Amino acid sequence: MNAPTRRSATTRSIRRLATLAAAVVLLPLAIAGVSAHGPDPVMNGGPFGQNQDLRFRWRAGSVPPAAIKTAIRSAATDATATRASKAGTFTYDSGGSNPIGYGVGATCGVNGLACFTRTVPTGFTMWLREQGHVFDWGTLKWCQAYATPPNGCYDAETVALDEFGHVEVLGHHGNYANDSDYLDAVVQTYSRTKPAAGWNMHTFGRCDIATLQLQYDMQSWSAKYSTCLDLATDLTLAASPSSISAGGTTKLTASLKVVDYASYVRLGGNPVAGRVVTLQRRAPGTTTWTTVGTMSAGPTSGTYVLNQSLQSDMEYRAVFSTPTNEGINGDTSATVRVYVGYCTAALRTADSLYAPCI
Ligand SMILES: [Zn+2]
Repeated sequence: MNAPTRRSATTRSIRRLATLAAAVVLLPLAIAGVSAHGPDPVMNGGPFGQNQDLRFRWRAGSVPPAAIKTAIRSAATDATATRASKAGTFTYDSGGSNPIGYGVGATCGVNGLACFTRTVPTGFTMWLREQGHVFDWGTLKWCQAYATPPNGCYDAETVALDEFGHVEVLGHHGNYANDSDYLDAVVQTYSRTKPAAGWNMHTFGRCDIATLQLQYDMQSWSAKYSTCLDLATDLTLAASPSSISAGGTTKLTASLKVVDYASYVRLGGNPVAGRVVTLQRRAPGTTTWTTVGTMSAGPTSGTYVLNQSLQSDMEYRAVFSTPTNEGINGDTSATVRVYVGYCTAALRTADSLYAPCI
C-alpha cells in the first residue's frame, strides 16, 4: 500500500509513474500477470498451505502504539473472516514467529506507508510507518492516532489488511482507468484517505477473494464463488435404470462441477453443491420442455436426484441457470432418454435389444 498524491492531474500522473517505480523497490517480489480488472494478480512464491495458521507478534523494539496494535489485530481478523476460501489465517500470538513492526525502523520503499515480506511456507514480516513520517508529499497521519480522525488520514486497519492480502499471495488489483472498480479490492497500489470511498474498507473485496479462491480453494462445496470470477460449469445427467416397465420408477441423477480448466487452478473439477438444479422432460419426438421440478441433494456433493414414475418413454435434461449472486455460469445437461416397456414379456432397451421384464 503506497501513498497516493493529491496534486494537479499532470503532477499526479508523473507522481504515479514515480511511485510505480518505487513500488518495485517496495515489493521486490515480482508480480506475474497484472491485468486490468478481474481477479487480483498473484505474487511470485505461491500460496501458503490451505488454512495455514500464521501467527504474528510485535517486533521487539518496534512495538506499535496501542491504537495501531488494535488496528493490526482487527485487520488480521478481517482477513481471516472475509477470505471466503482456505487462505491462511492470521492470529496475534506473543510467541508467534512472524514479526510486525512499527516506526522508523520500517524497511519500506520511499513511498510505502507499510510493507511486508513473504516466504512460503515459512512465514512473513510486516511494517507500518510511524505517525508523522514525512514523505515528499506531506506528513503521514494514521486515523487511529486521533480521537476524531481528520480528513486526509489513512486507516491503519485498511492498510494492514492490504498487507495481509499481499502476505496471502495477492498483488495489487488492476483497476479500470477511471478507478470505477476501486472497491472490488482492498489490495490496492494507492490507498485512499478519509473520506474517499474505500478509505476504511475492512473486508477483502470480491476480486481479492477471487484470487484467494483460485489459489486456496473453497471452504465448502456449497460456498459461493466470487462474482469477480467467470467460471464455466458442466452439468451431466443419468437415469438409473434407463429402462423400466410401465409404471416403474427410475432415478435421475445430475452432477454439477466446475469445468477442469488449468486456468481455474484449484477450482477446476470442484463439485458444486447446494444450488438449484431443475429437471425438465418432454415426450420423444416433441420439442417443448416441461419443468418437472427442483432436484434434491444427492448422495455425494454436487449431485442432485429426482425419481420419476413413467408409463411411456420420456426424455430428460437437467438445467442449472446462471446465478446472479456468484461467479459461475449455468449449464444444461445432454438429453437422456428413459425407455418404458409395455409388455409383460419383454422390455425395450437403449440399444433396441429385447430382454425379459423384471
Ligand atoms: Zn499494497
